[in-house]
Amino acid sequence: MKHTLPELKYSYDALEPYIDAATMEVHYSKHHQAYCDKMNGVLEKYPDFSEKDPVELLRMIDIIQMEETDKKVFRNNAGGYVNHNIYWESMSPKKEVDVILIKEIEQEFESLEKFKELFEATALGQFGSGWAWLVRDESGKLQVYSTQNQDSPYSKNHTPIFALDVWEHAYYLKYQNRRPEYVKNWWNVLKFI
Ligand code: MN
Repeated sequence: MKHTLPELKYSYDALEPYIDAATMEVHYSKHHQAYCDKMNGVLEKYPDFSEKDPVELLRMIDIIQMEETDKKVFRNNAGGYVNHNIYWESMSPKKEVDVILIKEIEQEFESLEKFKELFEATALGQFGSGWAWLVRDESGKLQVYSTQNQDSPYSKNHTPIFALDVWEHAYYLKYQNRRPEYVKNWWNVLKFI
């Protein structure tokens, strides 16, 4: 079975002016597609795994039986495939505020403002390419952290709630070196809060 990109639920220009249409198009149709294709390329060699959900494979990445070089390519590209699925799902031109999640955030991080400060600092503190996450850990507790490259919280047995892509390809066309501006503006298109 070949995996495909999930359809975007909004148009490339729907997140303007915060995320521009040109970035969305190249990010989804080129970058995300490339992760998907390369993941499929590895899975062709392992028919037993090709029917499985990539999320499940990432959860068991440490014990999965693959050649080391294949595993490295798989880890990066399945991570890229799954992480971007979460990123697109995290965003919307229309807010769908999750009041229960906000309550939980306020309890865990003192206030929504404090949470945002922490999340922004985490996104800005990620040196080089990576992601900032809100996840639920194995005990159900909320955590904020970053991962580098395409590493996935699923591989730590955590469940992502939302994700911010801080690879330069996510913002460079519009923001160039201004990652802080991209991160601040992202709250406008984050669906849940
Ligand atoms: Mn990306």
